[in-house]
Amino acid sequence: MALALHSIEQEDEANRCPVCGGDKRTCQDPKNQRAYEAGFKRCYASRAVGWAMKARGDDADARALVAYTTFHPERVKPD
Ligand SMILES: [Zn+2]
Repeated sequence: MALALHSIEQEDEANRCPVCGGDKRTCQDPKNQRAYEAGFKRCYASRAVGWAMKARGDDADARALVAYTTFHPERVKPD
C-alpha cells in the first residue's frame, strides 16, 4: 500500500507544472491555449501571513516556520 501511494505521489510530481503547480498535461497542451480564464480571490488572512513573513526579513529560521492567523473581531470595520 505504501509503495502504491509512493508511486502515485511520484506520478503526480512528474506531471506537476513547475510554473502554475497544475497538471502540465493540461496547462502545457497547446490545445488548451484558450481554455483558461484568470480570476482573483481575496484573502486577508494570506495577506497578513505575507506581511508577517516579510517583516522577518532574511531570518534563516523563517523557512522553518508555519504561519497561522488569529481573527480579531474587535478590529472588523463597522458597516
Ligand atoms: Zn502550468
